[in-house]
Amino acid sequence: MTKIGLEIHCQLTRLESKLFCPCKADYRNLPPNTNICPVCAGLPGSLPILNKKAVEKAAMISLALDCKVPDKISFFRKNYFYPDLPKNFQITQYNAYGPTSIGSDGAVQIEGKEIRIRRIQLEEDPGRLVYEGSSEKTQITLVDYNRAGTPLVEIVTEPDFENPRQVRIFLNVLADLVENLGVSDPYLEGAMRVDGNISVGSGNRVEIKNVGSFRDIEKALHFEITRQQSLVERNIEVAAETRHWDEARKITVSARSKEEEQDYRYLPEADIPVISITGGQIEKLRTQMPESIMAKRERYVKKYGIPAQVAEVLSSDKFYSDLFEKSHSAGNAKAIANIITTDLMGFADTREKKMELKVTPRHIADLADAIVGNKLTRNSGKAALYEMIKTGRPLAEVVSSLDLGNLSDASSLEKIIDEVFKEEEKAVAEARQNPSTINYLVGKVMRKTKGKADPAITLEILKKRLS
Ligand SMILES: [Zn+2]
Repeated sequence: MTKIGLEIHCQLTRLESKLFCPCKADYRNLPPNTNICPVCAGLPGSLPILNKKAVEKAAMISLALDCKVPDKISFFRKNYFYPDLPKNFQITQYNAYGPTSIGSDGAVQIEGKEIRIRRIQLEEDPGRLVYEGSSEKTQITLVDYNRAGTPLVEIVTEPDFENPRQVRIFLNVLADLVENLGVSDPYLEGAMRVDGNISVGSGNRVEIKNVGSFRDIEKALHFEITRQQSLVERNIEVAAETRHWDEARKITVSARSKEEEQDYRYLPEADIPVISITGGQIEKLRTQMPESIMAKRERYVKKYGIPAQVAEVLSSDKFYSDLFEKSHSAGNAKAIANIITTDLMGFADTREKKMELKVTPRHIADLADAIVGNKLTRNSGKAALYEMIKTGRPLAEVVSSLDLGNLSDASSLEKIIDEVFKEEEKAVAEARQNPSTINYLVGKVMRKTKGKADPAITLEILKKRLS
């Protein structure tokens, strides 16, 4: 049996400052080593001051993952030597003398399966090593400490995953959850990094370190399952070790023998006092948390009659559900849900395309009203939407410039239907015999009008003429 557990590092990207100093939490796009101070550079005598907002955001993640938040949290020094760690220890949390990390014993449901959350801890991110060329062949390694001290939440699961597919689903659920909470932008480069622990059968546990994308962790786990199974089949012991994912070669490579927890010589962090969290503070945090994705999903189904599957897609994505909330009214909620989940998501099928959309709630609301009010067909509506998201121009302007307005006046439609009747004598005769073939003629009218004919009025005229 395959057993997989995960450690997910999630940066709290929405904070102003780092975990223990006033340097910017947003270290991206800054010249190397310009976002540092004595605290995050680990200079002797500097003292850390805990960022209260970081504790609150980490507690929100814990609550959203059904974890217990203890009434006292404390910090530990995890000692190891690596050039990206200026103090030679990382300030993190460790449940050495009872649970003092920000969360423990939680659970997440994915497709009816429960994934248990063992622990959530708040810690600082190390700096970044920058290699010239690849990390294996490089002659020069540079260190950038801009990231050092960035607030990070580590989420540790129990080994409850049976296959890589469950891992991918879980990670997507988790990314949606932290984004919905407004604590992290999981799709920013490096904002969410995953380590996977995997064992096959009764073999040793192998750790795959620091995989940057969800697609790659799935591939890395698949690779490990095959590698470990083939060792087991040949009676070779699987070594307990840490392996790296080689993105270019799509394989895992042995990095070092795995350290044990005792190798880190955890020490209580004496420079940060034990922090008390009261029940009142927790209750206050709960009231500040946005509506959960599940609650949102249920509301969409119950209040607006949106089909469950559409509600699931819409509620999971913060960008699109925000757009829905800002654009819908009582009369057009279903139409808007439809436009967003089929047409809009179809146009913007990648993260990058989504970020480029020039779409406002006004665009979507006007479009839905025009479709509900039969001023635009679904087809013309799609064309109008495409133009709006590219240019940001208002609907009325787009409709007149592309000449998309509905053809609903009977006399123009009659003329077009005359033409179709002349061209399609056989189909007309058939439709007189067998009314169910009438859609063929509707299709012909649609094609002649480039999708602008009002389908209901067209059908009405056709039925009259055929009877
Ligand atoms: Zn600093």
